[in-house]
Amino acid sequence: MGILTGKTAVITGSTSGIGLAYARAMAKAGANIVLNGMGKPEDIEKERSSIEADFKVKAVHSPADMTKPAEIAGMVALGEKTFGSVDVLVNNAGIQFVAPIEDFPIEKWDAIIAINLSSAFHGIRAAVPGMKKRGWGRIINTASAHSLVASPFKSAYVSAKHGIAGLTKTVALEVATHKITCNCISPGYVWTPLVEKQIPDTMKARNMTKEQVINDVLLDAQPTKEFVTVEQVAALAVYLCSDDASQITGANLSMDGGWTAA
Ligand code: NAD
Repeated sequence: MGILTGKTAVITGSTSGIGLAYARAMAKAGANIVLNGMGKPEDIEKERSSIEADFKVKAVHSPADMTKPAEIAGMVALGEKTFGSVDVLVNNAGIQFVAPIEDFPIEKWDAIIAINLSSAFHGIRAAVPGMKKRGWGRIINTASAHSLVASPFKSAYVSAKHGIAGLTKTVALEVATHKITCNCISPGYVWTPLVEKQIPDTMKARNMTKEQVINDVLLDAQPTKEFVTVEQVAALAVYLCSDDASQITGANLSMDGGWTAA
């Protein structure tokens, strides 16, 4: 028996990176899983079926687009209909775009605010009634070091992540007496395929070695000079689902190698 046996976790943006690690860690803890996110159907099916085979739980995929409020509500409804409840909601889907404010494409601003911030509002709005009815719930939002500090050229991302931190606190206060907690996790640089893929191009563009790109470009802000791993982020999320974490709510938990201490 895992701490989440008999429970259901919906994880947005879980076809890749941090989201997939959350899904696998929560499945390992016994939860049935609603995967969500984009990707090739055959790749998604591979991840879905390996979760079922590896952890002896059930997993379904919701193709809900995080820019579409009705589809987000449909994703929560799919979890409730398939498994009987949605006990854990992890709002994790996210995209990035980097440009100076005066050139920042309006449609990129709108997409980042929709996917990285508003989708969490829509998901929480849909999941809270069931959690309140059952008297238990865990809401975990993937924020970022950028929920606490800014970097230039990331106006939409930093705004969305600061927004997620505010949403987290507000929801935590509203549901505090219902045995529902709401927290956010704020990673620094996490070693995901997304980050890994940037390295060869940056090596060429800046005429740097792999080590120079990692330490002088990517990890410039991170005092440990090490990446966070997806497994470390996922382990914190599973801990937040435990009874030991029942009094942690409204928190913004940094896992950033010291970035925001500086
Ligand atoms: P990733 O690109 O590997 O995964 C993003 C996921 O979101 C994918 O599953 C993708 O399909 C999904 N997604 C994107 N647009 C979507 C949409 N419209 N509808 C549904 N799903 C959509 O990225 P990641 O690095 O794993 O990032 C996950 C989260 O962690 C994001 O919120 C990101 O801001 C945050 N984060 C990442 C890092 C990092 O260094 N990688 C650091 C801090 C915070």
